[in-house]
Amino acid sequence: MVEPVETLLAFDREHVWHPYTAVTDPAGVRLVTGAAGARLELDLSPGSGRGGEWVVDGMSSWWAAIHGYGVPELDAAVTAQVADFSHVMFGGLTHAPAIELARRLVTVTPDGLDRVFLADSGSVSVEVAIKMVLQWQRGVGRPERTRMLTVYGGYHGDTFDCMSVTDPVGGMHSMWRGLLPEQVFAPQPPGAASYLTEMSANPGDRDDSVRYHAQAVAQWEAEFRRVADEHAHELAGIIVEPLLQGAGGMHPYPEDCLRVFREVADEHGLLLVFDEIATGFGRTGRLFASEVVAPDVLCVGKALTGGYVSLAAVLTTERVARGIAASESGVLMHGPTFMGNPLACAIASASIDLLLDRGWKAEVDRVHSRLTAGLEPLRGAAGVADVRTIGAVGVVQLDRPVDVERATEAALAAGLWLRPFRDLIYTMPPYVASDDDLDVVVRGITAAVGAA
Ligand SMILES: *Cc1c(COP(=O)(O)O)cnc(C)c1O
Repeated sequence: MVEPVETLLAFDREHVWHPYTAVTDPAGVRLVTGAAGARLELDLSPGSGRGGEWVVDGMSSWWAAIHGYGVPELDAAVTAQVADFSHVMFGGLTHAPAIELARRLVTVTPDGLDRVFLADSGSVSVEVAIKMVLQWQRGVGRPERTRMLTVYGGYHGDTFDCMSVTDPVGGMHSMWRGLLPEQVFAPQPPGAASYLTEMSANPGDRDDSVRYHAQAVAQWEAEFRRVADEHAHELAGIIVEPLLQGAGGMHPYPEDCLRVFREVADEHGLLLVFDEIATGFGRTGRLFASEVVAPDVLCVGKALTGGYVSLAAVLTTERVARGIAASESGVLMHGPTFMGNPLACAIASASIDLLLDRGWKAEVDRVHSRLTAGLEPLRGAAGVADVRTIGAVGVVQLDRPVDVERATEAALAAGLWLRPFRDLIYTMPPYVASDDDLDVVVRGITAAVGAA
């Protein structure tokens, strides 16, 4: 028997915590009753007896559902694995699903990232990555190197070490003073969008735009190097989201900056960590941003299982693994209970195969051109500060905070599920979204911008 929607929602309101909310003033939530393809079925009029309405998911369930919902290949993978076994401990035991996933991860990521640690969520993988960095420095005889260098505007998860490298305002550092490790922050890389804006403002003068872009990167590089030089004696590693800062501000930035991170890391004996939990698996138009320059440590998560279940992985090089092994304890002291969960691993392998088989690049390019063509006209509209796209991501930044409830309602009325934050109305739809779905995305965002 299915409970009435009102009863479910009433219990939810009284007892269930949702992300980033206050129990005293719970934000509205909508009940999901189904999900298929690029669409979610939401009960938008509880009590009306109208039943669910299908809306396009503009968020891919926070970057994860790249293949959409109810994916036959992923359903088959999990069903087959359930029939074998659902979970066994990973201490002292191993299994084909984990081994086969590790083999795929080693293959699809840049050469040299050959050692795989399976973690249960993105935040845990970032914790493991930072632990690897600090332990490697101990292993190579530099135990005084304990701080991470990062840039403003980042997001790396919600556990304490993750918060410590997340943007100080977004991570609420002032609230946690004395409890968070104090990391070193350098300026945010210049926006890739400034280049595009410049280009569209001056379409006839491409050279001018290119010069402008090079100058912005050079200025940032000088600042970044200054901060790194000043703290070199205490720095253990650099951690950044490559090419696109996600939940910290939806900020795409130029590839040249990745080369700067690599050079500075090498010059100062730091390990370079790329957090590709959001950018991985094709989202930016590259399978991994790490193809531009390879990091020493790579975190992946979110789309790893096509959005089915929580799983993340940390990949590192032989050199780093050996340095860690040379530290006092010799072992990496980390081992989550559900490490290498066979169901999650089986789904992840099927998801990677599907991504590669289906020709992800053409899909992402199609989403990109459709979003760019649809959103670019909003540039210059009332209240719009910037429009930017990268890969299968589209962002409209307002000149003021978004009225989330009004924007969400307007998008839903146009058939689109969105979750704006701060001054950002943005989308990263499933790669399988059809051209019609993408038209809904553009219409929904346009409506949200008008209402917010
Ligand atoms: C979402 C995210 C995380 C945290 O992952 P969880 O699975 O939510 O713990 C870390 N880094 C980046 C870049 C993310 O987008």
